[in-house]
Amino acid sequence: MYRQIEIVGMRKNRDVKIVITIIITAILAIIVCVGIILYNKSKLASQVASANIVEEQMAGNSENVESTGNDEKSKTTAGEKESTEAQQSQKPDNKEFISAVENIYNGEEGKRAFLTFDDGPTEEVTPHILDILDKYNIKATFFVLGTRVKQNPDILKREFEAGHYIANHGYSHKYSAIYKSADAVLEEYNKTEKIIQEALGGTNYTSNLFRFPGGSHGGPYEKIKKEARQKLKENGVAYLDWSALTYDAGGADTKEEIINNLKKTLNGWDNVVILMHDAADKKITYETLEDVIKYLQEQGYAFKNIYDLK
Ligand SMILES: [Zn+2]
Repeated sequence: MYRQIEIVGMRKNRDVKIVITIIITAILAIIVCVGIILYNKSKLASQVASANIVEEQMAGNSENVESTGNDEKSKTTAGEKESTEAQQSQKPDNKEFISAVENIYNGEEGKRAFLTFDDGPTEEVTPHILDILDKYNIKATFFVLGTRVKQNPDILKREFEAGHYIANHGYSHKYSAIYKSADAVLEEYNKTEKIIQEALGGTNYTSNLFRFPGGSHGGPYEKIKKEARQKLKENGVAYLDWSALTYDAGGADTKEEIINNLKKTLNGWDNVVILMHDAADKKITYETLEDVIKYLQEQGYAFKNIYDLK
């Protein structure tokens, strides 16, 4: 009798244990699921946040650029369309140039460094950079913004006359505007080409070279960028990113950091395209430029610009 009661009691205990185990397992499963959902959400948020930080860094004085961009947009939409159509109907045959730019890292003529400066011209920074480049007799490449060329046409002229290569970095540098569509990218390119021509006194200069703000690949606008890469190519325009950088647009506050970043990103390559900035607040760029030049010279690099590819 006692034994039977004992057995029934044990069975009951066992059933209760099974039920508790099931409940605990279910609760744990819910916690894990909620955890995964929250983690993915925060990961996405941090990716977007970091993309925005890059945008701000690259834009320099982004507010100024943005407001100028909007003011001009309404006035010149018709002109932009016309110039896009003109460019498309001409269909310049720049296959050789595009291929030379695409093969910039495959040169076999010894070590080559292409110094490039983005987001200018500005009166605060660009003339100092030009003075230093003159001193060392180095020809560089400037990826200029349409908004800034309008403000500083004389500085652009000085860059051009000194033998530097003028290339195109778009008009607004505002990601939400330029990456609205592939057509918007081409329109910003064409608009900036026109402003460059005006600043040079009405020449028919064409750079045929674009640098995507924030880089040509990846990020939240990759789909548009992919279409734009194709569209630019169809219109005879090459695009170029960079292989090394000093982090002068953010992340480097001292000369030592600038040189260390350069050392790390040179990556032992013989052909390097180095990203720097001449936006108005990039005093550090000209303050450290002589050290950058001397370091590259010590490493055996010769300085080239895009004219050397033509
Ligand atoms: Zn930029």
